[in-house]
Amino acid sequence: MYENPDGVMIGLEVHVQLNKLKTKIFCGCATDYHKDPPNSHVCPVCLGLPGSLPVINKKAVEAAIKVGLALNCRIEEYTQFYRKNYYYPDLPKGFQISQYDFPIASKGQIIIEGEDGELIVRITRAHLEEDPGRLVHEGTIDRSKYTLIDYNRSGMALLEIVSDPDLRSPKEARRYLDKLRNILEYLDVFDGDLEGALRVDANISIMGGQRAEIKNISSHKGAERALLFEIVRQKITLSMRTKEEAHDYRYFPEPDLMPLKVSGWAPEIKETLPELPDARRMRFIKQYGITDDQAKSLTGELVWADYYEQVLKIYENEYGEKLDPKFAAAWINDYLKGEMNYRGSTLTYAVGKVSHHLIWHEYTVAILGLLKHEKITDDNAVIIFRNLLDSPRGGSDWRPVKKAADSAENYVMRILEEKGLLKVEGDIVETAAFEAINENPQAVADYKAGKEKALNSLVGAVMKKTKGGADARKVREILLVKLG
Ligand SMILES: [Zn+2]
Repeated sequence: MYENPDGVMIGLEVHVQLNKLKTKIFCGCATDYHKDPPNSHVCPVCLGLPGSLPVINKKAVEAAIKVGLALNCRIEEYTQFYRKNYYYPDLPKGFQISQYDFPIASKGQIIIEGEDGELIVRITRAHLEEDPGRLVHEGTIDRSKYTLIDYNRSGMALLEIVSDPDLRSPKEARRYLDKLRNILEYLDVFDGDLEGALRVDANISIMGGQRAEIKNISSHKGAERALLFEIVRQKITLSMRTKEEAHDYRYFPEPDLMPLKVSGWAPEIKETLPELPDARRMRFIKQYGITDDQAKSLTGELVWADYYEQVLKIYENEYGEKLDPKFAAAWINDYLKGEMNYRGSTLTYAVGKVSHHLIWHEYTVAILGLLKHEKITDDNAVIIFRNLLDSPRGGSDWRPVKKAADSAENYVMRILEEKGLLKVEGDIVETAAFEAINENPQAVADYKAGKEKALNSLVGAVMKKTKGGADARKVREILLVKLG
């Protein structure tokens, strides 16, 4: 039982930019501004010019309902937009269109792995609003002589997801954020790799202390660190900051947008919900017989879950037989994912664009096929994987193979051959063993005198002769037979 000695209570407000929508929330400006010059994706509406009128993007409302349903929220019958007043240059019209009463979704939950087992984190609400523009300073904000404003971001659809203060430690806060991001990825509503895609504000209080707010945390690691810092700080001094209250914003209904009756949309959208991370994890365990840890690790990132299942599927198509899913999980999750994490590289991902994979499915299919049919050894497979991961794309060792696993297989075999690492056939191993015994009479004598370790030097000699291409276990067996 986790005792929560400091009485820590953390609630998070997560702003998710629905950047997979084609257009902004209240105008027709395109959302793919990230590589374009500042202020090139703007119009009178998202610049907030007087007299311009917002028109709600239906797809944004649908995406918000989709997220609400995935978070087990209630979808309100009516939803209403409000003006939230405050004046900053990134919002030149002097207010932000947001929601207040009647948010799109409320009273949901996310289940995470808490300090002492499963923890239900309640979702207070999820509501839509417009993203403000971006203030850019030359150098640091206090030294910059001027402020630049880029309104490309202004009017991007934001979904603010507010949790109850159910989190009891920075670690739980981080797990909550990981889980939420995981769910959002599955829902395909945002691209988390884009700048500003997910921003977090935290409300934290510890027993006897005041509430404090930490604004604008941009990474999950950052969230954990900032919260830890705040807990320590509160233990030393009591925060005297007061949070802005709702009445400071003088909310009032946005007169240019009618209330939307959305409850009727929910059933149809519910039909389109994909299999979510928890369900997929359970299915992986049941269907593939892999361990809970493996299933958690694979489904914890959509790209890996998809990769795993695609390899199984491609393998079956290519070889006309099923690949043992446990064997595949051992190589893909336990080995390949580890190697990639170690290198700080990820399987970058875009739905339907296999070309973004650093390791093509076909390579993995080919390597696992060669392993399974005992044409290469485990050591060889490791060498090939490392070779693929370390070769710059387009380098001589790395070539995308688009066609089929058999061409990837040829390719893998060629690399092994070039490196002199091809698994060596039985009679060559036999010959090498024969030679090793003849060339190392001392080791043979030592072994026969009962020194078990002498066998290792003979195995080593054979491996050297076969350039590591022989299977060490089999070499051992052959030597034992020969030594009688
Ligand atoms: Zn616009």
